[in-house]
Amino acid sequence: MSRERQEKKEWDVRASTLARNTHNTIRNIVECLKVEPNPQKELIALSIGDPTIFGNLNPPEQVIQAIKDSADLHTSRGYVAAKGLLEAREAVAEYSAHQGDISPNDVFLSSGCSHAIELAITALADSGQNILVPRPGFMIYRTLAHGLGIELKYYNLLPEEQWKVDLDDLESQINDNTAAIVVINPSNPCGSVYDKEHLSEILDIASRNCVPIIADEIYEHFVFSGHTYTAISSISKDVPVLTCGGLTKRFLVPGWRMGWVILHDRHNILEKEVRKGLNNLSTRILGPSTLIQRALPSILKYTPQSFFDEVLLFIENQAKLAYDELRRAPGLKPIMPQGAMYMMIELKMALFPEFKNEFQFVEQLVTEQSVFCLPGKCFEYPNYMRIVLTVPEEILREACQRITLFCTEHVTYENRKEKENADIAATNEIPIININLSRLP
Ligand SMILES: *Cc1c(COP(=O)(O)O)cnc(C)c1O
Repeated sequence: MSRERQEKKEWDVRASTLARNTHNTIRNIVECLKVEPNPQKELIALSIGDPTIFGNLNPPEQVIQAIKDSADLHTSRGYVAAKGLLEAREAVAEYSAHQGDISPNDVFLSSGCSHAIELAITALADSGQNILVPRPGFMIYRTLAHGLGIELKYYNLLPEEQWKVDLDDLESQINDNTAAIVVINPSNPCGSVYDKEHLSEILDIASRNCVPIIADEIYEHFVFSGHTYTAISSISKDVPVLTCGGLTKRFLVPGWRMGWVILHDRHNILEKEVRKGLNNLSTRILGPSTLIQRALPSILKYTPQSFFDEVLLFIENQAKLAYDELRRAPGLKPIMPQGAMYMMIELKMALFPEFKNEFQFVEQLVTEQSVFCLPGKCFEYPNYMRIVLTVPEEILREACQRITLFCTEHVTYENRKEKENADIAATNEIPIININLSRLP
């Protein structure tokens, strides 16, 4: 006999546990800022990792045309296979050949790279398990995992060694419940780029402990002169790698929401379950936008190399500009990035005793100078702030000058020696290369 239904007297509609436990750290922290910019100075947001907002960086004609052509096709309006159109997956497999031997069947299209990351995490981890993520690191991992009861464990990156992984720390974090190690290379927020040797060291740890890798390579190829990008999957001998990528950053189209997961698994370790799991999971949204999928083969094949080169040159030059300006600012220690589009800056908090933490520092920076940088807290990394390098050159220069002024006004030296040391550090010249930026898109 069925239990008699209790009649409800009042509305009492609760949000699900998943809904309540899903948080976007960056958005929450930014919303917590209780400050108004200085009305005398126009606000400069160096906080938003979206290269489109200033309108100075645009995708090439060919890419826009591919979408226009797709819009004309009746076949770009319907449903396609949940993991993506075969032609689109073939194009991604070809475009990603540097990652290893890929068949279109190894490619799962997603709605942006965040969704690719969600597919990878949920294909590998259950509630109660953990995934290892870098600290500092991009916080989408927290947003995705926390509500599902998947624990995040952090392994440290070493700022003194160009943000290399603290390998001992990484290995010590692994336990029986570790479902995956996340490697973000090139890195947001650090801009670090790992060479083959370092990637091999990470792979050795994964191999010894039989833990698969989730490789966040949304910044693949996004490296400055003198550095080389290596896909971690291309040098993995046995460790299965789920590589997450997409159009977002390299093609400057975050709003188009097109990404992918590529399954690399030489020894068929994930064949029994995980491949099928990825297929299952991709049916949850019935696949990403067909409009973009139809355009994908043209976008990936016909975007000229010169476009990528020019964007990279611009960002590298911005990095040099910001580095050169900010290393002169008292109390700051910028770390020159090797790729991606960000720079991390250490705040010597001891020299700014009026601020309890970097959060107060960035708040006051907004209040006085109308420059907004993301506090390190957004990446689980206090005493640092992150700036975005994709803003127009003049705006970046202005922002750096205001930051320097702010530091000069607030720095407090305990004694003369500290000041002398800071002065010496600031005058160690590095050469700055002049590049003609007028040809930029
Ligand atoms: C921007 C970014 C993503 C998310 O990309 P979308 O395609 O916009 O979802 C993922 N990982 C890192 C490291 C990023 O910086």
